Amino acid sequence: MALIVQKYGGSSVADAASIKRVAKRVAEAKRAGHDVVVVVSAMGDTTDELIDLANQVTPLPPQREMDILLTAGERISMSLLAMAIHNLGVDAKSFTGQQAGVITDEAYGKARIIDVSPSRIKDTVARGEVAIVAGFQGVNPSTNDVTTLGRGGSDTTAVALAAALKADVCEIYTDVDGVFTADPRIVPSARKLDRISYDEMLEMAASGAKVLVLRCVEYARRYDVPVHVRSSFSTRTGTLVTNEALVTNEEGEQMEQPIIAGVAHDRSEAKITVVGVPDVPGKAARIFEVVAGAGVNIDMIVQNVSAASTGLTDISFTLPAADGSKATAALTEHQPDIGFTALQYDDTIGKLSLVGAGMRSHPGVSAKLFAALSEAGINIEMISTSEIRISVVTSSDSLDDAVRAVHTAFELDSTEDEAVVYGGTGR
Ligand code: ASP
Ligand code: MG
Repeated sequence: MALIVQKYGGSSVADAASIKRVAKRVAEAKRAGHDVVVVVSAMGDTTDELIDLANQVTPLPPQREMDILLTAGERISMSLLAMAIHNLGVDAKSFTGQQAGVITDEAYGKARIIDVSPSRIKDTVARGEVAIVAGFQGVNPSTNDVTTLGRGGSDTTAVALAAALKADVCEIYTDVDGVFTADPRIVPSARKLDRISYDEMLEMAASGAKVLVLRCVEYARRYDVPVHVRSSFSTRTGTLVTNEALVTNEEGEQMEQPIIAGVAHDRSEAKITVVGVPDVPGKAARIFEVVAGAGVNIDMIVQNVSAASTGLTDISFTLPAADGSKATAALTEHQPDIGFTALQYDDTIGKLSLVGAGMRSHPGVSAKLFAALSEAGINIEMISTSEIRISVVTSSDSLDDAVRAVHTAFELDSTEDEAVVYGGTGR
């Protein structure tokens, strides 16, 4: 008998029939003798619809009210799921994040979990009942106001609860069969991974892979929570995210780790080029102080060689497109003291990232990546690397082709059936 935390995403609880299907799965795990704690997301696109609604009422919704509004989504699904499980003859009770003891900081809309004290959840489980917890929310103890954890935050709730309860596993149920070598929506021949290390999963999530949210992976790594990503629409084994770097084959023998785990992509960034920056010490520092002062995180940076005749250089960097106007406004304000000539803004870019722990010890990975991109006729605008990742910026239009070309070049294509995307509107 194990203690299992199961998390069901929005597409798994999109309507009444789906909720009944999930209830059956939960009841089966309970009847098999396990202790079960369930974390739910809001039904389908509820969160987006609530945001739309708020924006129809006011152009600038107060953050406190926005968080109260958004937590309602998860409260609907948690209570409906508890009712559906009850109807199957299994006792179940639902709890808000606050009732479940999820304590966060005060940052509305992107709160961080600082503690989890799940005494009510423990009591519920000890009584033999299933505890259902609303994902994506907690409470700020200094104001007693509810907070939300940022989009996709229910994954983080599930892993944090699993850590606090010392659960044997945290199962994340989604609309695909696990973690794939690329997004199956773009690469239908993407292969499901049996295992991936925390480090690789962190790089994939940070590079735009949407299957798990970044903070949830950080949390899982810090507390060593084994995460099993799988589909709620099938009974197939999914992908295990753990810290074991070594992979075993069917006979249980250790095999060498694959060099590449996968190809991630991200279309949410934009590029700013600061044109005609005087090539003297201190100018880059000023530019990035100004951008940081506006509260904007940057990703990649490239400085061009300066033209000897002018002594001017161009500096380009990428940032979340959502922060584009903040950053350009701040830089424009400081144009006189920095002394650049012009700003260029481009939000039609895409980023491809090749991730794999085996890159550390295998030469030739970049050569192969750039050969694949050039054969596909794809122009590279920027490059950055970490120990286990190489990222390139391309035009947004050519990103899908780039992902497919690189996926094939590294022989990641599956020879079996096409990957199945079971649900979700991809919104
Ligand atoms: N409902 C929230 C969202 O859509 C949280 C989640 O699904 O994990 O972002
Ligand atoms: Mg959602």
